[in-house]
Amino acid sequence: MAGEVVLIIEDNERNMKLARDVLTFRGYRVLEAPTAERGLELATSDHPDLVLMDIQLPGMGGIEALGHLRANPATARIRVVAFTASAMKDDRERILAAGFDGYIVKPISVREFPGQVQEQLDLRCRST
Ligand code: MN
Repeated sequence: MAGEVVLIIEDNERNMKLARDVLTFRGYRVLEAPTAERGLELATSDHPDLVLMDIQLPGMGGIEALGHLRANPATARIRVVAFTASAMKDDRERILAAGFDGYIVKPISVREFPGQVQEQLDLRCRST
């Protein structure tokens, strides 16, 4: 499927560029935010179908930003997936306990990433 809007909140330029290029090539519309603060603005103004949220960010972190999204009626129902290098079991549990709808581990696999993103979009469709 194409045309769905994915907001990527990620401060690492290489990670951002790779994720953006792969998704854009597959026909998704990508919004980019290098900080959580900018991501919250874009989530409110553009209402993306999915948010990929880095955890470690300058300024506000991803877990705090998730809380802001959930607290705002305009963004509370957006599916938000942690976009994280933390692959350890404890980290995963902490991320899901924080209220993320799922997670995608970095570094991404160019071959697997589009499917991972579409899977998250499909889960959103079923839950609404
Ligand atoms: Mn980061």
